[in-house]
Amino acid sequence: MVSPFLSHALLLGCALALGSALSAQAPAGATPLSPPKPPVSVAPHLEVRWKAGLATQKVTPPQFMWMAGYGGRNKPAEGKVQDLFAKAMALEDEAGNRVVIVTLDLIGVPQALRREIGAKAQERFKLPPSHLLLNASHTHSGPILRTTPISAEEEKNPRLRHSWQYTQDLQRSLVELIGRALQNLTPARLTWNKARCGFAMNRRRDYSLPPDHPNANRVPNPDGPVDHEVPTLRIEEPNGRPRACLFGYACHNTSLGFYNWCGDYAGFAQQFLQEHRPDFTAMFLTGCGADQNPYPRRSDVVPGITDLELCMQHGRSLSNAVEMAMVVNPRPIIGRLRAAMQEVKLSYANSKRPDHDYPVQVIALGDGLSLITLGSEVVVDYSLRFKRELGSQSGIWVAGYSNDYNGYIPSLRVLKEGGYEAAAGWAQSVEERIAAKVHELFKATR
Ligand SMILES: [Zn+2]
Repeated sequence: MVSPFLSHALLLGCALALGSALSAQAPAGATPLSPPKPPVSVAPHLEVRWKAGLATQKVTPPQFMWMAGYGGRNKPAEGKVQDLFAKAMALEDEAGNRVVIVTLDLIGVPQALRREIGAKAQERFKLPPSHLLLNASHTHSGPILRTTPISAEEEKNPRLRHSWQYTQDLQRSLVELIGRALQNLTPARLTWNKARCGFAMNRRRDYSLPPDHPNANRVPNPDGPVDHEVPTLRIEEPNGRPRACLFGYACHNTSLGFYNWCGDYAGFAQQFLQEHRPDFTAMFLTGCGADQNPYPRRSDVVPGITDLELCMQHGRSLSNAVEMAMVVNPRPIIGRLRAAMQEVKLSYANSKRPDHDYPVQVIALGDGLSLITLGSEVVVDYSLRFKRELGSQSGIWVAGYSNDYNGYIPSLRVLKEGGYEAAAGWAQSVEERIAAKVHELFKATR
């Protein structure tokens, strides 16, 4: 039995803890926070016909190795602001068709890594490679990956040795992660919708201006094309409790240029979505953001505000959009799961360079939503194009940075204009070859 004194002390302790928690969350004058409520489905009329399984793995490097993304780095990482994560979402329809979506707080998905994991997942879990998606957030505050084995000479170089070892370990843990997500499949209700978020801005100069115009070489370009949609898939338990979300945005994860591990704005968006929801997994799927940067960006643009604060603000802005997309007018995911993936040969302008095998994948999540995934760093024109061309037949969600990491993929427009995103030297056929394959696989999965 608890003594009166003790129970009083406990009560007082609770009140103090509650008071300090509330004061930490709601400043004086703010609207009081609502107490936690029991879960309520956003679509209670929707029959529970799917299964979903989630798994998370921390992939923060065990040592301060060199960081990926910027060529100008002159030393390894020195600290950590956030852990980096790999997350897997397995989905299964009524007929037992399965897909696994893996998101990574990392720079990219090297093709060799993707192929190795695809082969292992097929062998161990009978998951066809076409039904596996690997997408990277392209954070520039993560480790360098290396899939080419190192020589005895290179072994002496810690930069090369660490990145090779890290990538080997990553490969093994991602296969395990996929297995755990599949093991965790339990009944779920799936809905999706989209919201908008405005911090991504076109980072190329305005090529329509004559060269002698005073703004001809100024960036960013507020008139340039952007894709501000935030498509969001919501997974809830049969009782309505939200269990996970998968959300997309088309923008480089380059708010930061420091020497700390961090998921950048996407890392914060995931953290904010998870922090007040126990046992909830938020996953970020990078869109066609090759020519998009977050703005404002970098110190001294906003007086007195650091890069990290701006980064967190962008994360908050994106997570707020996801919160809306999860509850407003949910669209049910009904019907079969179908997936197809094929490689298309992309040629270089220099015909002596060998073609590149480029992965294109379409995952039809039921009858109303098609997820189109493209490899490497894809400019925003692709996303806008496929939504325009296919959007009357289905909801269209386009992801870049998927299943391959081989530099920039310009549209024909960007290729003709030139500049940074056009410098890889692709032939002018690049956009049409990708578009033809997208249309083919879209048809095949409907
Ligand atoms: Zn990039």
